[in-house]
Amino acid sequence: MEKVRVRFAPSPTGPLHLGGVRTALYDYLFAKNQGGEFVLRIEDTDTARYVEGAEDYIEEALEWCGIIADESPKKGGKFAPYRQSERRDIYDRYTEEILKTDYAYIAFDTAEELDAIRAEFEAKGDVFSYDNKTRNLLRNSLALSEEEVQKLLAEKTPYVVRFKMPIDRTLNLVDIIRGNSSVNTNTLDDKVLVKNDGMPTYHFANIIDDHEMEISHVIRGEEWLPSLGLHTLLYEAMGWEAPQFAHLSLILKPDVSTLINKENIDSITKSFTEEFVTKNSQFSFDESAAIIKSFFSEVKSPRFKSMLNENDKDNEITASVKQFLKKGLSGKLSKRDGDKFGFPVFPLDFKDLSTGNISKGYRENGYLPEAFINMVALLGWSPADDKEILTLDEMAKEFDLNKVHKAGARFSKEKSEWFNHQYIQFKSDEELLQILKNSDLHLNIEDEKLLKIIHLMKERATFPKDIYENGKFFFEAPTSYDEKASKKAWNEETSAILAELASNLEGAEFNAENLKQVMHDFVENKGLGIGKVMMPLRLALVGELKGPDVPDILELIGREESISRINNAINNFK
Ligand code: GLU
Repeated sequence: MEKVRVRFAPSPTGPLHLGGVRTALYDYLFAKNQGGEFVLRIEDTDTARYVEGAEDYIEEALEWCGIIADESPKKGGKFAPYRQSERRDIYDRYTEEILKTDYAYIAFDTAEELDAIRAEFEAKGDVFSYDNKTRNLLRNSLALSEEEVQKLLAEKTPYVVRFKMPIDRTLNLVDIIRGNSSVNTNTLDDKVLVKNDGMPTYHFANIIDDHEMEISHVIRGEEWLPSLGLHTLLYEAMGWEAPQFAHLSLILKPDVSTLINKENIDSITKSFTEEFVTKNSQFSFDESAAIIKSFFSEVKSPRFKSMLNENDKDNEITASVKQFLKKGLSGKLSKRDGDKFGFPVFPLDFKDLSTGNISKGYRENGYLPEAFINMVALLGWSPADDKEILTLDEMAKEFDLNKVHKAGARFSKEKSEWFNHQYIQFKSDEELLQILKNSDLHLNIEDEKLLKIIHLMKERATFPKDIYENGKFFFEAPTSYDEKASKKAWNEETSAILAELASNLEGAEFNAENLKQVMHDFVENKGLGIGKVMMPLRLALVGELKGPDVPDILELIGREESISRINNAINNFK
């Protein structure tokens, strides 16, 4: 059996998004599952779309995820180079070869000429396509005489190489995930294989490299499914065996009802309205915002979807808003969704050097790579027994392309946070200590104390920074007391009770176990309900009625600070 070799072949046209990470991950998991090799190839033949920094970004992102290539531009390998821009001589060789077959021809039509023809077609209500019906009317080696072609070549007239799509053939396409389908070649056009600067287009370079690099399986996004007919024929033209194909479904936008709440409805309304009025400048911002907000306030109601679909008595603006929301809330997950709803769609922050814009990354938002990659893996694949928590190695053991879903996978912000919470729990206190120390929180506290705080707070943390944010009272005294909590916890007797407790604390040994005993005895001796002491004490220490056990808090902040916080509260409630 041939060796399994799978490649991830991104174009450096921007940062890798969630969909790209998932493709890379499935490529990797499949290769590892089969005992094969995983190759990273950079497809940078489209110089017009090249984005500075994108290649480095892709490599860094994959590394952060733990998706390590066996061969790559940086690592090299037996099929190097792995950057298409460095493989020009290989493509030149195959360009010559395909031109000797009946599957390709050269075409001299300039962009202006093609624009003019396109306009002519449009004027007649037709759509122009360079294909087996039109190619004989255009300026190419099939339509022109041999002398004319030779003359144009002698004059150094620029030309492209086009694929000669066979007439009326039905192609059977095989896809591991989608099953079989067919396409008639009359619906396909004569794609450019080599541009007039001699550089191959994606289609040609891609199949040459997959062949040269001995790729056995092509796993990629479904946006490439329409190219499968052409690719199949290109393999036929070159006389090569085609790899097996698997096209992954889309990652879909999250369910809005899980994203909009009282706290964020105004800011989400604002960003939707900004986009709406940019596209519909006839409507005012305020009026549009009011309508959009009225829809968003119904987002949790079961009627929400049908509300957007009813359109009996709508005025013009409401009808437009409904159209806009219907489109904007369904379909493919986009970068803008991340911006609007406040979740990252990229693995790492990406700074666009031309605009200075920063797109948010999972890494910088406090996600652990293990959690991120686990979440991504389950967007479209279900392991046996519907297991949810798997390490990369476990995923590789279980991965099965036959179990990858045909339908689109809905992204969920809640679920990604759930994964992170789980993985925080798997971390040891020491590991979390290192993460917090390397974060931008700049905590000024001894390791020993921080470790204890981590131990007490990690259970409720979704992100490492939550340990600090939910436990700020460990670092500083409260500056105010929650109103509702104060009403509940403090009455006229409280000051006297806490003052007496404070004096008991003066002489007590300050460890949680002993403090628990001290308070127990105190409550017992005074014949008080436990809540009468614990609640106001917690309020004095924390500022609200939350946090871990009170004796643990007392031990950690220490005698002096504890007593000072009790006195502060007594003064405050005088
Ligand atoms: N360069 C293509 C992309 O960025 C690769 C598609 C493929 O995997 O064939 O999507």
